[in-house]
Amino acid sequence: MSPSSRERERYQRHLTLAEIGAAGQHKLGEARVLVVGAGGLGSPAALYLAAAGCGTLGLVDGDRVELSNLQRQVLFATADVGRAKAEAGRERLAALNPDIRVVAHALELRAANVRELFAQYDIVLDGTDRLAARYLINDACVILRRPLVSAAIHRFEGQLMTYVPGRGPCYRCAFPQGAAAPVGNCAEAGVLGVLPGVLGTLQATEAIKLITGAGEPLIGRLITYDALEMRFGDFRISRRRDCAVCGDAPTITEPRDTPAPAVAAPAGLQRLSVTQLRDLLAQGEREPPLLVDVREVEEFSAGHLADAVNIPLGELAQRLAEIASDRQPIFICRSGGRSLAACQLALAARIAAPVNLEGGMRAWAAEVDPTIEVL
Ligand SMILES: [Zn+2]
Repeated sequence: MSPSSRERERYQRHLTLAEIGAAGQHKLGEARVLVVGAGGLGSPAALYLAAAGCGTLGLVDGDRVELSNLQRQVLFATADVGRAKAEAGRERLAALNPDIRVVAHALELRAANVRELFAQYDIVLDGTDRLAARYLINDACVILRRPLVSAAIHRFEGQLMTYVPGRGPCYRCAFPQGAAAPVGNCAEAGVLGVLPGVLGTLQATEAIKLITGAGEPLIGRLITYDALEMRFGDFRISRRRDCAVCGDAPTITEPRDTPAPAVAAPAGLQRLSVTQLRDLLAQGEREPPLLVDVREVEEFSAGHLADAVNIPLGELAQRLAEIASDRQPIFICRSGGRSLAACQLALAARIAAPVNLEGGMRAWAAEVDPTIEVL
């Protein structure tokens, strides 16, 4: 079979889509995509991009494959344990599609190497689990004018956004530094193995759309995904004129490494267990905490905490003004997923130190008050 007829057969299901077709497939073949982090997110993203015929695919990862990675990092096989992730990943992707070029970058991304690396690619996918890396990647993409598809996961929840230079907010606009975004480290927090499969696949989808021009990229919106409640959230985010890197008078004009202590700033999201909340309420403070229940009205009516106010998550963006800026809000939902999204919204709106009630009303009913009804 000649190379061209083999390609026609391989990409047949793309070629028959009017939105992709021969022109889109050609663009995919010319595209150079860098996947930073060959982990839970990077695995499905890189696999689908390789399968889609993305001509040049770079994999950045300085780690080695561990047995505990295999629960979610589907790029690797058991026999890869102990190997460099970038190299094992390169081999797997080349086996999947020998017609593309896969480049292994077995290194840790740093301010010192980010310029040279990003210069070789057109689009960057962030699948890292370190906050400092996320800001470095974002800043480098803004400064070097590279589109960025960013995803993060934590336990049962994920989030996704796309940045396109000159067309919308960057990651730093959504999560100003200091207001630490709820990016969990899987080693500490645990993660449902299939969760990064969903988010990494969405990242590949966004990259393919950016390359081919099909559809509308996820600009100016943050998508949240709650696996436990099987719910997607969709929130508008705006570019901040005072953003440190993409704003009108940027203070960050060169990629820089973030010193570790600055990342865990106290202004970030806080977590509260239901027993901690019970104790807090029992103290009878003169200024009780502001309880914001973000469930739907029917759920709230069935049973809720005394003095809680009800602002369903879907209305929160428009009603943030109802949350007094001098009182620390504690967000509550059924099982902790929607309230985490509410914390993200509050952080993006610069409400200081929002608190997420872990486990939500289900945990409250199980551990504190079994008489309360939770729909
Ligand atoms: Zn920005």
